[in-house]
Amino acid sequence: MKRMSRHIIEGTINCVSGLHVGGADDQLEIGGLDLPVIKHPDTKEPYIPGSSLKGRMRSELEHKLGKYSGKSANEPCGCCLADCPICRVFGPHKFDPRHPPGAGHPGPTRLLVRDAQAIGALALELKTESGNDRATGQAGNPRQLERVAAGAKFHLRLMLQVFDTDDKFKYAGKTGKDALLAVVCEALGYVQSSGIGGGISRGSGEVRIDGMTLDDKPWPCN
Ligand SMILES: [Zn+2]
Repeated sequence: MKRMSRHIIEGTINCVSGLHVGGADDQLEIGGLDLPVIKHPDTKEPYIPGSSLKGRMRSELEHKLGKYSGKSANEPCGCCLADCPICRVFGPHKFDPRHPPGAGHPGPTRLLVRDAQAIGALALELKTESGNDRATGQAGNPRQLERVAAGAKFHLRLMLQVFDTDDKFKYAGKTGKDALLAVVCEALGYVQSSGIGGGISRGSGEVRIDGMTLDDKPWPCN
């Protein structure tokens, strides 16, 4: 397997609503915020971790294509089949080389999603949400969700690598590199229709991605 090329995909993520991407410290601190947004340890600036973005792209596409491992829609696809767009682009989940579940390993993960750093200044806001007690239906303890306020922008940066074995991969009527790009583009579209981060069912995390480029040239992905 030989790498043929690498491509840089960039764009701007615009927050249409408030955005809450939580960190590992999403736990109650005495006197602290209930649910703070994740911030860079050095700059203290909020950002969107690449893992969050990639996970959302992947799970939305899995739901759309009905590709999961096992019976649960919560277990990501690890089929390793040569024609699986999920395993090829995002990497097979829990791949064990001693027990390949499919016909063959699709090779290295094609898509790398970098942390999306803020563009310009951001405002933070607090949204009070009353957690409903599911057993009683009563409004429970209100909690404070920290959000990046609507209007914020983040720099989307992806790297796609193309291998010689991709020349036969087909997706959405396209072949090879174009098929890989079609997978990325479709997944980014679902991120925009679903949202990013926490509380998306309660109105947080709506985003629009614009100004897309592929290797510094305009790329009309969406
Ligand atoms: Zn798969």
